[in-house]
Amino acid sequence: MSTDPKGDQLAAAARDAAALQADFYDFIKASGRVRQTLASPAETPPAIQALIGQFNERNQVGMLACAHLHASPAQPVFWLAYAPDRVSCLRCLPRLMDELAPNLEDLCDLCGQPDDDLTGIWGTLDRVTIRGFLCERCHPTGL
Ligand SMILES: [Zn+2]
Ligand SMILES: [Zn+2]
Repeated sequence: MSTDPKGDQLAAAARDAAALQADFYDFIKASGRVRQTLASPAETPPAIQALIGQFNERNQVGMLACAHLHASPAQPVFWLAYAPDRVSCLRCLPRLMDELAPNLEDLCDLCGQPDDDLTGIWGTLDRVTIRGFLCERCHPTGL
């Protein structure tokens, strides 16, 4: 028996998040322009580390969370750099992305510059999956 149920819960959530990446990849790919999945922080390119930094900064301020995350905070969490004021669970994510899609402008999530050839990326930080669109200058092909 573990003496740290909360730690166990978080570890299980991290495993769930990793497992979900595989399923979720198809969904993200269908949303277009995805470049890669990221396996470990050591492989995380600087631009995606910068997005993770944006998430961490925003997290200090506080974010809106969907009802499911309120009810069960240890499950995998999804954050979209272009809707930085909220986090959602996997269940809510497709709807959130659909809601945001019509108003998405072709602006890089890092430098804010317009670009008609942004690349959709995603990175992970423990149980948080981060999604953003980056320009070629911020995230050159091949990184
Ligand atoms: Zn939810
Ligand atoms: Zn950029």
